[in-house]
Amino acid sequence: MPELPEVETIVRDLRPLVIGRHIVRATLSHDDVLRGTTRRRLTRRLAGATIHGVSRRAKHAVFELDSERLVIQPGMTGSLTVHRRKLSAAESRYAVLRAELDRGGELVYTDVRRLGTILLLTEKQWELYDRALGPEPLDPEFSAERLGSALSRSRQAVKKVLMDQRHLAGVGNIYANEALFAAGIDPSKPASRLEPDDHRRLHAEIRRILTAAIRSNGTTFRDYRTRTGEPGNFQLELLVYGREAEPCRRSGTRLTGTHVIDARISVFCHRCQS
Ligand SMILES: [Zn+2]
Repeated sequence: MPELPEVETIVRDLRPLVIGRHIVRATLSHDDVLRGTTRRRLTRRLAGATIHGVSRRAKHAVFELDSERLVIQPGMTGSLTVHRRKLSAAESRYAVLRAELDRGGELVYTDVRRLGTILLLTEKQWELYDRALGPEPLDPEFSAERLGSALSRSRQAVKKVLMDQRHLAGVGNIYANEALFAAGIDPSKPASRLEPDDHRRLHAEIRRILTAAIRSNGTTFRDYRTRTGEPGNFQLELLVYGREAEPCRRSGTRLTGTHVIDARISVFCHRCQS
């Protein structure tokens, strides 16, 4: 699933294309992506609405409408783009949400496997939703102490805590694996056993890696593309994710891949991480 850097890239690309535009009409191909709303309500509320802003929160793209927020969390096979021309047959086949904009163009959420989600929230509902999410790791106010206090309260594996959106927003499997490798921490280690020095290293590495990934337009996997159709290229800088059984770039040790910590693949180096 696209994580913080990929969704940040999507949002930055969309911003100049959608802000100030009115939605003329909207259609939804399947309602299994909807959470807490219906196709009828969504399409009715979108028609005639103005897009006042678009931002990212955790792994969601958040469109600020007149009195509501359209919140899209792109799935692994999802993409969110503005099309200026007619959609190709393949694009229309997988287009889930299509919002026709005034002055031409169409905001389209495409998702081959429909693993993404779409919410339409009132300002009040959005406040509650936002409050349930953990801090943004790139927020200047997010400190190593804040990360440390979330970690020290959990006996779960540190990797699980990093990926838990209630503790930290926007980090998923790719960047949790990378940050733990860079900080030299075993992903299966109980979070509560980390020391303040580990918190500082992990905090610094999470921020450094997410910032670098945004600079590279994110990591390309499956159907993720930036607005211009270019893939992101942070995958070239990944040191552990997708490299199980390959040699560690630091120690030359064969990297271990396991699904034991959570259902996802964890890749780490026995020698460099403890
Ligand atoms: Zn190593």
